[in-house]
Amino acid sequence: MVDILPDDTPLWQSMETAALEVLSSYGYAEIRLPIIESTDLFARSIGEVTDIVEKEMYSFADRNDDSMTLRPEGTAGCVRAMVQHNLALTTQRLWYMGPMFRYERPQKGRQRQFHQLGVEAFGVATPDQDVELIALSRQLWRRLGVDDALQLEINSIGSAADRARYREALVEYLSGHRDQLDADSQRRLDTNPLRILDSKSPETQALLESAPVLSEYLDTETQAEFAALLSQLDLLGITYGVNPRLVRGLDYYNKTVFEWTTDRLGAQSTVCGGGRYDTLVSTFGGKDTPAAGFAVGLERLILLMQSLDITVTAPADLYVVTADANAYRHSLPRLDALRRQFPDLDIVQHLGGGSFKRQFKRADKSGAAWALVYGEDEVSASQVTLKPLRTDAEQQTIADGELATFLAGYLAETHSV
Ligand code: ATP
Ligand code: MG
Repeated sequence: MVDILPDDTPLWQSMETAALEVLSSYGYAEIRLPIIESTDLFARSIGEVTDIVEKEMYSFADRNDDSMTLRPEGTAGCVRAMVQHNLALTTQRLWYMGPMFRYERPQKGRQRQFHQLGVEAFGVATPDQDVELIALSRQLWRRLGVDDALQLEINSIGSAADRARYREALVEYLSGHRDQLDADSQRRLDTNPLRILDSKSPETQALLESAPVLSEYLDTETQAEFAALLSQLDLLGITYGVNPRLVRGLDYYNKTVFEWTTDRLGAQSTVCGGGRYDTLVSTFGGKDTPAAGFAVGLERLILLMQSLDITVTAPADLYVVTADANAYRHSLPRLDALRRQFPDLDIVQHLGGGSFKRQFKRADKSGAAWALVYGEDEVSASQVTLKPLRTDAEQQTIADGELATFLAGYLAETHSV
C-alpha cells in the first residue's frame, strides 16, 4: 500500500481534472461504486482461472461468514450496478475512479492498492463504440502531454465460438511442449488455455512465437468489423500496432482488445487496457447488452508524466504576516472578506505568532507569490503592505480599500487560462 504525499497530489489533481473534462466532453457520466463486493462477483466475471482470482484478491469472511473481496477492478461492480438498477435498458456511458486492490509483488508501477480510471459504455455492439473509447483515451493522453510516449496495441479475439475453435488448435500445439511451459501455464492448459497467451514467463512467450494465432480463426464477420474499426482509427490519425498475441488477463473480453503501452516504465509498460465484453451483462442476469470499456492505471500514468518532467506545483498566492496580536485581530475579518470575494485566491495565514523574521522565513518557504503584511503602521493607517516573494516587483503599501483592485489585477494576470 502506498501513500500519495502532498508533493504529488497537485499532479494527481490536475490529472483527475483533465480526465473529468475529457470524459464530460464525450458525454460520459460518473458512477460511484462500493469498494467491497461479494467474492463471487469477481470469480464469475473475471474468471476462476485467472491471475486475479487465483492469487491476487484480498478476500475475507465478514461477520456473517459471507466471503467479501476488496475490488481488484471496477468492471464487475459496474455491471452489477447496471443490472441491479436497471440501467442497461438505455445506452449508458459511464466512468469511475478509485482504489483497486491486488495482492501482487510490489515494485515500480505495481502496488497492492492502486488506482484506476474506468470507462465503460453499454448498449452499442458496433465498432464505432470501440473507436470512441480509443479516441477518448488518446484525447486524454494529449491533454496530459503524454500522447507521444504511448503506443496503441490492438487485436480482435473474436467470439466465443471463434475462441473455442482456436483453443483446440492451441491446446494441440502446446500439449506437445507441456514440459517447457511455466507451472501456471501447465495447469491452465487443461483449465483455461487462452490465459497462457497472457503468461509473463519468457520461456512460455518464446514457445508461443510459433503457436497458431487467433486471428486466423476469426469468422468473416468479426474480421470485417475489426477492419472497419482499424479504418476508423486511420481516419483519426491514431497509429496502432495489431498484436495478434494480445488477449488481456480477464476472461470476459471478446472481439476488440487493446492496450496503450510505453517504453518508459520498464516491465510495467501497460498504462491502459480494455476491450469489448458483450456477454458480461447477461452473465449477471441482465438483458443481453453489448458493452466495451477500458481502465487506466493511474499510478503508471503519473509515473509516465513524471518521467516526461510534467510537474504541477500549487503554492499559495498570499502568505499573511501580522506584527502582533492586535494586527492579527485586525486582519481576521479582512481576510475572511477576501476569501469570500476571491474564491480562487489561495491565502495562507501565518499562525502561532512569532517575530517578523520568522514569519517571513515561513512565507519564503511556502512558495507564495506575495507576503501580505499587516504591521503596526499598516494597522493604524488602514493600509497593507505587499511584498513580492518570487519576483523583483516593487514592494508597495496601499490603502485597505485598494487591495481588492490589486488582487483582481493579480488574478487576471496569473490565473487566466
Ligand atoms: P499487468 O499485466 O501489468 O499485471 P493487468 O493486465 O493485470 O496488468 P488490468 O487488469 O487490465 O491490468 O488493469 C488495467 C490497468 O491497471 C493496467 O494496465 C495497469 O496500468 C493498471 N494496474 C493493474 N494492476 C496494477 C497494480 N498492481 N499496480 C498498479 N497498476 C496496476
Ligand atoms: Mg496483473
